[in-house]
Amino acid sequence: MTLFDSAAFEGHESVNAVFHAKSGLKAIIAVHSTARGPAAGGCRLWPYPSAEAALTDALRLSRAMSYKNAVADLAHGGGKAVIIADGRTDKSSALFEAFGSAVEGLGGRYWTAEDVGVSPTDLAAVARTTRYVAGLEGRPAASGDPSPVTAEGVFRGLTLAVGRALGRDLKGLRVAVQGVGHVGGFLAAKLHSAGARLIVCDVDQRALRAVVEGTGAQTVAPEAIFDVDADVFAPCALGGALSHATLDRLSARVIAGGANNQLASADVGERLHAEGRLYAPDYVINGGGIINVAAEIRALEAQETFDPTWVSAKLDRLMTTLDEIFARSAEEGRPTDRIAGEIAEARMAARAH
Ligand code: NAD
Repeated sequence: MTLFDSAAFEGHESVNAVFHAKSGLKAIIAVHSTARGPAAGGCRLWPYPSAEAALTDALRLSRAMSYKNAVADLAHGGGKAVIIADGRTDKSSALFEAFGSAVEGLGGRYWTAEDVGVSPTDLAAVARTTRYVAGLEGRPAASGDPSPVTAEGVFRGLTLAVGRALGRDLKGLRVAVQGVGHVGGFLAAKLHSAGARLIVCDVDQRALRAVVEGTGAQTVAPEAIFDVDADVFAPCALGGALSHATLDRLSARVIAGGANNQLASADVGERLHAEGRLYAPDYVINGGGIINVAAEIRALEAQETFDPTWVSAKLDRLMTTLDEIFARSAEEGRPTDRIAGEIAEARMAARAH
């Protein structure tokens, strides 16, 4: 594969490949768009089997960040960094400092943050060589764990979807939650408080026990979550939960959860719509986390403290956008994920001029 032929490259402004011999850093920083402002997206550290796999992941993720940031109406474009390394053996201060230097070299076109394999401690090393980093602890601008904000957005989006598709509230509603980690755990607590009946699963028994103790949820084996009798399915684990195979088994008429990349393939969105199920597009309903990070960037730029009221106003706006997507889907008879994509693209284009 050459870069410009890759389908994932389409629309990217720039892609930087970084090699630093002394620390062993091998990283790719993909900037999809700066039309709305500096690109913002986390840094993932993963033992990719090949440079090609790392490149494809960086391109896919940075493009997705453009859509997520635009639909959340943030003054940011999409970007993402991946470091090719094994988190168990390869992490060092020198590696993250070298990564910070690469980010600094982009002169503010890309802001980095946490993603899979990268912790706030790692980011402290990144911050020694660049100021374009969010997600550090202990600063006045610090935004903290984004998961509660993500879960709040998912809870509100799920409530909207249930109102529209089922014409009811959450009392007695049966919700199947796949994955009760950070986002799924906070979501389960909120749903329980609102009177929903929960069926949950997780591959991690400790996470499962904590949620069962707090909510009295029924548990099932991970693979059985697709077969339970539920009104709502909330994917909050890894990507790809919605495929033709799982749709054959799911009874839920509403799909609303926090996981990224829920659709295993683009045609699954069409099928959800054709079957009369209401799907809350993942990068819309789970945008609370990036709103939280954007609030930190904003505070850092202005040398101010973190402002939760700004986060709350942006989350309200995001929920209005989600409701607009549901309304347009019903009026125009088209899948929600298609409409979400069009709204994001229109917002990117508007800022590009
Ligand atoms: P997490 O790691 O805390 O939680 C994920 C949970 O899913 C874990 O408990 C894990 O054991 C479980 N899991 C993994 N595979 C599973 C399977 N096959 N069946 C059932 N459970 C399984 O991560 P998180 O921060 O809660 O994020 C969850 C999802 O939400 C991810 O897709 C993430 O990309 C997305 N997301 C998170 C945020 C955030 O603010 N944390 C923001 C936007 C999107």
